[in-house]
Amino acid sequence: MSENAGNSATKYVYDFTEGNKDLKDLLGGKGANLAEMTNLGLPVPPGFTITTEACRVYLESGEVPEALNDEVSAHLAALEQTMGKKLGEPSDPLLVSVRSGAKFSMPGMMDTVLNIGLSDASVEGLAAQAGDDRFAWDSYRRLIQMFGRTVLGIEGAQFERALEEITGPGASPGATSDADLSAADLKKLVKRFKKIVKNEAGRDFPQDPREQMDLAVKAVFTSWNGERARLYRRQERIPHDLGTAVSVVSMVFGNLGADSGTGVAFTRDPASGQQGVYGDYLQNAQGEDVVAGIRNTVPLAELEALDEKSYTELLRIMETLENHYKDLCDIEFTIERGKLWMLQTRVGKRTAGAAFRIAVQLVDQGLITEAEALRRVTGGQLAQLMFPRFDEKAADGAAAEHGVQKIAHGIAASPGAASGKAVFDSYTAIKWSRSGEKVILIRRETNPDDLDGMIAAEGILTSRGGKTSHAAVVARGMGKTCVCGAEELEVDTKRRCMTARGIDSSTGRGTVVVEEGDTVSIDGSTGKVYVGEVPVVPSPVVEYFEGRMHAGADDADELVVAVHRIMAYADRVRRLRVRANADSAEDALRARRFGAQGIGLCRTEHMFLGERREYVERLILADTDGEREDALKALLPMQKQDFVELLEAMDGLPVTVRLLDPPLHEFLPDITELSVRVALAESRKDANENDLRLLQAVHRLHEQNPMLGLRGVRLGLAIPGLFAMQVRAIAEAAAERCAAKGDPRAEIMIPLVGTVQELELVRDEATQVIADVEEATGTTLGLALGTMIELPRAALTAGEIAEAAEFFSFGTNDLTQTVWGFSRDDVEASFFTAYLEKGIFGVSPFETIDRDGVGRLVEDAVRAGRATRPDLKLGICGEHGGDPESVHFFHEVGLDYVSCSPFRIPVARLEAARACAAPHSSDSR
Ligand code: PEP
Ligand code: MG
Repeated sequence: MSENAGNSATKYVYDFTEGNKDLKDLLGGKGANLAEMTNLGLPVPPGFTITTEACRVYLESGEVPEALNDEVSAHLAALEQTMGKKLGEPSDPLLVSVRSGAKFSMPGMMDTVLNIGLSDASVEGLAAQAGDDRFAWDSYRRLIQMFGRTVLGIEGAQFERALEEITGPGASPGATSDADLSAADLKKLVKRFKKIVKNEAGRDFPQDPREQMDLAVKAVFTSWNGERARLYRRQERIPHDLGTAVSVVSMVFGNLGADSGTGVAFTRDPASGQQGVYGDYLQNAQGEDVVAGIRNTVPLAELEALDEKSYTELLRIMETLENHYKDLCDIEFTIERGKLWMLQTRVGKRTAGAAFRIAVQLVDQGLITEAEALRRVTGGQLAQLMFPRFDEKAADGAAAEHGVQKIAHGIAASPGAASGKAVFDSYTAIKWSRSGEKVILIRRETNPDDLDGMIAAEGILTSRGGKTSHAAVVARGMGKTCVCGAEELEVDTKRRCMTARGIDSSTGRGTVVVEEGDTVSIDGSTGKVYVGEVPVVPSPVVEYFEGRMHAGADDADELVVAVHRIMAYADRVRRLRVRANADSAEDALRARRFGAQGIGLCRTEHMFLGERREYVERLILADTDGEREDALKALLPMQKQDFVELLEAMDGLPVTVRLLDPPLHEFLPDITELSVRVALAESRKDANENDLRLLQAVHRLHEQNPMLGLRGVRLGLAIPGLFAMQVRAIAEAAAERCAAKGDPRAEIMIPLVGTVQELELVRDEATQVIADVEEATGTTLGLALGTMIELPRAALTAGEIAEAAEFFSFGTNDLTQTVWGFSRDDVEASFFTAYLEKGIFGVSPFETIDRDGVGRLVEDAVRAGRATRPDLKLGICGEHGGDPESVHFFHEVGLDYVSCSPFRIPVARLEAARACAAPHSSDSR
């Protein structure tokens, strides 16, 4: 079909029989999967998909591509032939839905229009064909309402008010909801709706079915750039330039009576990963009614009693889909008078825990390989699993002790433990969260307009809707805690409160009213809702990494076993090693338990604080070499002891110790405090000599931009003996560990180098000190000497610097701030929000490596460094070392290791493996 009349070579329209699941870029997820199901021989209503390419042309030029109209006509004609009906034909109309569908799922964020093809004439034909007047007029009023809102931009409330008037007091006897309206009521309503269209849009509701369709297609294209779609994309890091495809699907009806209905199903539980029958079904309903969470649904298993034939067929199809996609699928279906139709499928969103469990289940079923299992989980999900959980005992047992009371038990829709102040609208959620409050957004049900409130909230609670309601789907996608369908709660958004009834289990009575600002806690893993703040406990996954829970135990937690297995695959395949940023033995031991293969950054500054500050002050105030040497001598044994402990904790693994980096003023008293103290003392005429000297020193060392001042190697060169003392401490500690039959592997790292000359000076001094210690102790220490690359100049001259360095460790924190020219300590709170909102940043460059700028310098430095010294060891120790996307970058540019904080080590291990399993895919949407 369809080598069509368009002049251009580009093909903009694909019949469902022409596409497949791998064409998501072009056909969107929905279009590609409808095509795939069609090709599998599943019952899909026939239709065709207009490509994302056509959308992009429309968004850029404001016009659909020239060839599109003819292509659509050809496909429509073919569709009409298949269906044996013509679009909108008065006596027996073909009706279609016009559905959005982007490459990445954006639930409810774009528009869809159903029942296209109905008009004053064809509504009668539909009524006659269906033998149901009421149904036909209900479909027509739905079309005008949806079309009016999405295509003509009329405020939805206009239609809702008209509907309320007809179902409210004074309406037809007994009509309390739209489902009770008679055909006559609906005819009246259609008249009202058409009037609204005329008044608000200044035009009649279009009677020409093709015009309806073309306008609907354009409206769906336009909805790609709607405010909520843009917001969702920013949140989910979906590029803004993809565009949406549009699928035109022949209508099937779930609202034709009790033998019809619509539903949503999952092939496995998206919350836990358990295999089984999961989903919701709504009898006598159409389209989005289920997802919108407007009417309460019944569990899918109840369909068996209602329509056994369709139920059995559905289960068979679900099995076919799972085996075909080799993954959890979610499905939308409709039953029209006992005939099952598949309206959509896709690889379904799932919770972090379910992702891990499903991945290993599928390996065990022989459906996927271990490498594929790694592609099915993400470091972000693992990080989520490491968050603390509510302490069930404290929550349920000793309620009074913690001032906590359980008030409802809803559906566990998206796991996590969230506490915060109750808010009842998105506006307040955003406002309060901006001022630093944690909030729980409470709604009867959510809709796409609540998106920014959901982003701002710690968790979401709704009193209506099932596991597939908007709140549940979106919260799961964001990894945000959500309890939905807590029916014991009456949510009153106008009065900003909710009432929980019948909460006293002993008497069955009692009412609690939660007002805006009261603290509530929601448990997205159990569905429980509490007033008060429930204490938290560590997650079992952290207990596992800590070694307090064992995957091999008989009663091992299923999630822990899944994590254990995935981590074992990960460690087998990854190339990047993972080290820790740790500067105490305690941190080092924890890092080891979490899988660290050494320390990539031991910052030594904390070793100069506390009681040692006094010696640092003496060092800074020293007037003579003797005084300075005395101060350094006093510091030496303390430093040495620090390193002995650290090397013992990391015995057998490399420990990179960075020599002192921060500006000296950080070790001195605050300038204002000290000035006041001295001024007061002077006024009392008892000024302290030491304070006066200190104040002079503080003034002398004061810098406007201390982060660009006397730091790092500059400090080492400015204060004679400081770095030598540190090197001696490291060397003596290593010698002591050797004497104790340990295996110390210290590496000495020089910070903030900008030119090779700086490094050479420090290296020569250090080499001499090490040689002295080796001679004195009769030990060969094998200490490596290297540098951080954290200034643009260092990166640009990496080839020369490598002549004096045995290793490089990229300090991407400083490198980011110096490449961009903004201070990491200041900017996140100032203009970053605006930059993120304007899309200048998709994400803060301090969080994820800026590949194009900072990343390029890293890449060039790697190349130049290795050209000079082929065995140069390369690592990264900035915060990016634990960020999933950045880990992929560091793998790609060929570093040897990443180093990050102990808690992020498992994430880095996993992502390092995922980078091997899927070199270009840090993305698992
Ligand atoms: C860096 O700059 O990336 C780094 C690790 O050093 P610090 O954060 O201590 O400046
Ligand atoms: Mg730094």
